[in-house]
Amino acid sequence: MSNETREILINSAYILASILFVLGLKMLGRQGTARKGNLISGIGMLIAIVVTLLDHNVIEYKWIVVGLVAGTVIGLACARLIKMTSMPEMVALLNGFGGLASLIVGAAEYCRIRGGTVMPDHPAFTSAVIYLTILIGGITFTGSIYAFCKLAEWLSGRPILFRGQHLVNGLFVVLTVLSGIVYVVSGDPQVQLMAVGVFITLSLVLGWTLVMPIGGGDMPVVISMLNSLSGVAACAAGFVISNNVLVVAGCLVGTSGVILTAIMCKAMNRSLANVLFSGFGAAPVPSTGAASAGVVQGELKPISAEDTFAVLEAARQVVIIPGYGMAVSQAQHVVRELGEMLENNGAEVRFAIHPVAGRMPGHMNVLLAEANVPYEQLVEMDSINPLMPTMDVAIVIGANDVVNPAASSDKGSPIYGMPIIKAHEARTVICLKRGKGTGFSGLENQLFLLPNTRMLYGDAKGSLQGVVSEFKSLAAG
Ligand code: NAP
Repeated sequence: MSNETREILINSAYILASILFVLGLKMLGRQGTARKGNLISGIGMLIAIVVTLLDHNVIEYKWIVVGLVAGTVIGLACARLIKMTSMPEMVALLNGFGGLASLIVGAAEYCRIRGGTVMPDHPAFTSAVIYLTILIGGITFTGSIYAFCKLAEWLSGRPILFRGQHLVNGLFVVLTVLSGIVYVVSGDPQVQLMAVGVFITLSLVLGWTLVMPIGGGDMPVVISMLNSLSGVAACAAGFVISNNVLVVAGCLVGTSGVILTAIMCKAMNRSLANVLFSGFGAAPVPSTGAASAGVVQGELKPISAEDTFAVLEAARQVVIIPGYGMAVSQAQHVVRELGEMLENNGAEVRFAIHPVAGRMPGHMNVLLAEANVPYEQLVEMDSINPLMPTMDVAIVIGANDVVNPAASSDKGSPIYGMPIIKAHEARTVICLKRGKGTGFSGLENQLFLLPNTRMLYGDAKGSLQGVVSEFKSLAAG
């Protein structure tokens, strides 16, 4: 086969792989088609890998096979062993290794050019792309590892702030840019080597110092942003090694990461700059709730599992609003069981999902899907809110910030403007939580003090099991 024919075949296969990536991504956007979308993207990746391995540029397969076997074993073990609640950490690690891979590709290409193995057609362009690959890869690597350590609680989740922090980071950025310019424009190999050493070191330091002032709760946004960066790094690596499918895949990861980051920021009514630079969560937030706003005065009114059952037994329209606490207590299976029992009792049951409920995008959807809650019962915030006044009971399971009415009524509240699920508009609200703990924002919640709210205290799973067993006794008796 001539080189030209081989080139055409390889690029045709890459186009097919790219189409499968796009189709897969589109299908991932809906729960009903997400699994299929994952499979289709996976097939696209398989085609891309196999075709790349058949490329005549591959000189030796030994280390590729070693890498493939090691990666497959580690990937399979992670898929089996990692708990759903640890997914954000897992994604952080995978992002980090993606960044490291790009850094290594960039550095290896620099070494090949320096050693005279390859002669780039456009030296300045190639140097600029190598610089970007290393820089973005390095920042993504250490930034993701820091995010992983915070999420895994190996490091404190509190933002680490010190005087002049932005100045120090700004100085690092300036030095990084300067060393990049020196590397690209200098013709002296010794100067270039020094510049490469400087920006590799600075990129690794910057990843760490940029994530340092961001609180553990904001890590999902950071991870989504770093995910986007790892895509940009992969895209740049694609230019470095002239691999079209890597450029396309990198662009897709980069843009989808940006979109996801924007969605999360919008759902929290915060700008990306606020997430990255405000040090949100550094100090406990003073309560702006009931008293200061003068909106609600009241007391917490506990309810037992038996009384909760009595309220639910009479209800015909029920909405279940899950939050981070459901994930912590792993209550999703008993939530599904409760939903089925309510339906058998003649109630219409909906699950209202807030876009940032939990600690990662789609957190609640994933947990409820794992428990086989039918997709049709999941309702998005904008669809459920107009129906809220018609709901007999809203059951809030370990959710706090996403149902905090202060977000719409208290202009002094730090979360003012964040869209919420209007649980307070239901006739009766039953809130499941362990005690008086605040949510991610550290704010008191007016919802818990309203006259129509009752508090079912305890671990969400245990509390729900109590209610479910009341339904079971009714069915048995
Ligand atoms: P939340 O505001 O963090 O509140 C969780 C509540 O669950 C707490 O009040 C806690 O109260 C309760 N809880 C914890 N463990 C429990 C257990 N085992 N059983 C029962 N209750 C338990 O959660 P949310 O309403 O889901 O809001 C998510 C927050 O995370 C938002 O502020 C959002 O902006 C932020 N965030 C989300 C994302 C994302 O991608 N989803 C990203 C970044 C930030 P007790 O301690 O009293 O039990």
